[in-house]
Amino acid sequence: MDQLTTKPTIKCTKCQTDRDPSWYPRDRRRRSWRTPWCRVCLRAASRLRRTGLTQEEYDALMAKQDGRCGICRMPFADEIPARIDRSAVGAVRGLLCPRCKVGLSTFRDDLERLRAAVGYLERTA
Ligand SMILES: [Zn+2]
Ligand SMILES: [Zn+2]
Repeated sequence: MDQLTTKPTIKCTKCQTDRDPSWYPRDRRRRSWRTPWCRVCLRAASRLRRTGLTQEEYDALMAKQDGRCGICRMPFADEIPARIDRSAVGAVRGLLCPRCKVGLSTFRDDLERLRAAVGYLERTA
């Protein structure tokens, strides 16, 4: 593609990829009004900060689970964002949809309680 005839792009200072300006969130504090990192890099950086998971590790998890929730197998999408599930000691167990993650945290990973809940649902169905 001829660069001269295409729309001007911005090179991300992180991944060095030329992207359309829409890939860069607005940032009023900056003179350019755009962040120097693209959305992909910003998202990866905030995930790393929050979870310690690198983009590679995250991608590997996503591939292992076929892009689906580890419990209900719902495919992840914009409305169903993948949430990182961790054990009580902080080890990453997998990716869950928001509902299943809330469900697990409600039961505090208590297997007995979860089994009891299944039993209850089966008894009362
Ligand atoms: Zn980037
Ligand atoms: Zn789920």
